[in-house]
Amino acid sequence: MERGFHTVTDRAVDACSGRRVALSVVVPCHNEEACLPLFLSATVQAVNEITTAHPGMTVELVLVDDGSTDDTAALLRQAADGHAALPFAIRWLSLSRNFGKEGALLAGLEAARGDVVAVMDADLQDPPSLLPRMFAMLTDDPTLDCVATRRTTRAGEPPIRSMCAHLFYRLMNAMSPVEVPDGARDFRMMRRRVVDALTSLTERNRFSKGLYAWVGFHTAWIDYPNTRRAAGRSSWNFFALVRYAIEGLISCSTVPLAVASYIGLLLCAVAFGATCFIAVRAAMFGDPVAGWPSLACIITFIGGLQLMCLGVIGRYLANTYLESKRRPNYIVRDGNINVRNAGNAHA
Ligand code: UDP
Ligand code: MG
Repeated sequence: MERGFHTVTDRAVDACSGRRVALSVVVPCHNEEACLPLFLSATVQAVNEITTAHPGMTVELVLVDDGSTDDTAALLRQAADGHAALPFAIRWLSLSRNFGKEGALLAGLEAARGDVVAVMDADLQDPPSLLPRMFAMLTDDPTLDCVATRRTTRAGEPPIRSMCAHLFYRLMNAMSPVEVPDGARDFRMMRRRVVDALTSLTERNRFSKGLYAWVGFHTAWIDYPNTRRAAGRSSWNFFALVRYAIEGLISCSTVPLAVASYIGLLLCAVAFGATCFIAVRAAMFGDPVAGWPSLACIITFIGGLQLMCLGVIGRYLANTYLESKRRPNYIVRDGNINVRNAGNAHA
């Protein structure tokens, strides 16, 4: 086998061929019936390029149907049954409902057996043509653990989404101890040790970009311009993205909690100063204390602030509550892979 892939255990042996699986490509799929055929043909080309450079190497595609309501599951089954003609084995899982991309991604990572594992979207926004280059970078440099990608442009995306994304990365990097580069994608190729580190994290509220940064390892970056989804529609609406961003911030940082208490402290100091000022003025000059409207505004302002801070605390409390239930991140309904029925929480 090629240089640099001797990190692993016998879990990386393909059941059919008895050979080590050198590369797994994990793809979460939610309502991707329009994209899947395009994705598969683009991936065939990319994998052919890799296997030409490394003859005899075993590649598998791990496709996770995340509770799709269209024909995605049927397409996966069909592709897996007809995989003899393809340069890779197709292993697929169907989850019992839509668990969200993070759950599907984890299901795929736990099922993957490769010495090297790539994760990518099914809509061709993560170009499969980059796979050979990523694989070559890992093969050529044994000190490298991960090749990650980031978008240099966001052309084709609604401007409001790009603006919010930039703001999110600014906040994230200001608040969290780990750095998530602006434009970073989930699209990356990792050695087994990185995958094992990621799957060993048992939290329920997963924010992969934060987790990749948190587990560390030597990472090289490939930049590429944004590409539009090949077909179909994004599964995320604006509100889902805002929710995802808030969950991401909360999962990676406790700074919002500290900010809440700093604001409280600051307001206490201001209120104390103002009280002293009014008291001294009344004692020295006999000024009557007037100004009900301004008082009402101040009380409302502070009341709102208190509720906001309580809300921040509530989010953390809710997350602690959800984590304490230790429910799995996904449940498998069907597939051609023998895996645990429910993922990670009980690992
Ligand atoms: N996806 C998923 N579950 C979901 C939402 C999305 O598995 O609940 C998959 C989707 O099929 C795609 C990838 O995650 O392969 C990225 O989703 P999408 O393209 O909709 O997101 P966007 O590119 O708009 O951020
Ligand atoms: Mg997409």
